[in-house]
Amino acid sequence: MLAAGSIIRGVATSPRVIALLSGGLDSALACALTQRLGFDVVGLNLATGFCVGQGRCETVLALGQRLGVPVRLLDVASDYIPIVRAPKHGYGSAMNPCLDCRIFMVGKAREVMREEGAAFVVTGEVLGQRPMSQHRRALDLVAEESGLGERLVRPLSGRLLGPTFPERMGWVRRQDWLDIQGRSRKRQLALAQAWGLGEFRQPSGGCCLLLEKTYACRVRDAFRHKGKEALTAEDFALLRYGRHFRLSPAAKVVVGRDEQENAVLGGFAHGRWLLSFPEVPGPLAVVEGNPSPEELELAAALAARYSDAPREGPVKVRLARNDEAEEIMVIPFDPADPRIKLWMLGE
Ligand code: SF4
Repeated sequence: MLAAGSIIRGVATSPRVIALLSGGLDSALACALTQRLGFDVVGLNLATGFCVGQGRCETVLALGQRLGVPVRLLDVASDYIPIVRAPKHGYGSAMNPCLDCRIFMVGKAREVMREEGAAFVVTGEVLGQRPMSQHRRALDLVAEESGLGERLVRPLSGRLLGPTFPERMGWVRRQDWLDIQGRSRKRQLALAQAWGLGEFRQPSGGCCLLLEKTYACRVRDAFRHKGKEALTAEDFALLRYGRHFRLSPAAKVVVGRDEQENAVLGGFAHGRWLLSFPEVPGPLAVVEGNPSPEELELAAALAARYSDAPREGPVKVRLARNDEAEEIMVIPFDPADPRIKLWMLGE
């Protein structure tokens, strides 16, 4: 392998390369290796709207600093939703459209490659690491359907895959790539340590909401009751927060689990019923759909189960939607009421 800062053979200025950076170990290593081979690397991170956790942008920017590469952050959420609604290659074990997702992301990287005048794109994909999107046929399909072909390079498994554009140009030799395959992360961790890349979070499938069973259950319910095409980015965002209960085809209740979630749910009030407790500490709840008066009362009693109101006594609940508002008295649900489990989505 060439050393850091090497001059690429036969090239006066280093060709530019786009490296997809997720913030995880594999994409960081692919980026670092490409850089060590002497290329001028620009990191690219795509925000789909389905990433888990806060502060992802900061994590990726900090990683870019550690690697010494500039990073472009691109919000692709609105273009990504059609992929979640109807993936051509289907879903994985939850609602994760991994193959379509990879094709989409690499396609976006191709657009940035053109904008930046870059020569090729690198990703951290490893042959055989993920059953749905990283077997040999899937890797070839992503290269083909993204339109990148041999300009899509997977440096971590490059020796095991087909020839690439930079090899054809004589910029690198085949043995400059690595031959990592499979699910073990041992070699990657050793390399990260050897190259001084610092600590990485454990990639146990915990980075994508679409992989989570609870979230997937809520998405399926929303597809069924609201319709795939009608679901907006806001609807998908609301599926992240609170406890969700499907009362009927026309009514769903979302109950905040803590102060932070209550504050977030307040932002989803437009066009929905907002339930609150003016006289006792309690959650904020949102009711979606077209609930009947009886369903609104049920929703209020259900939300009251998570308030500090005494179980036996009536409690006041404020119902508000746009300009309408009223207050009603309800008896909180008994926590052992079997309907609670029946209605709950995905927990
Ligand atoms: S786990 Fe999520 S982000 Fe990763 S490829 Fe699959 S759908 Fe895309």
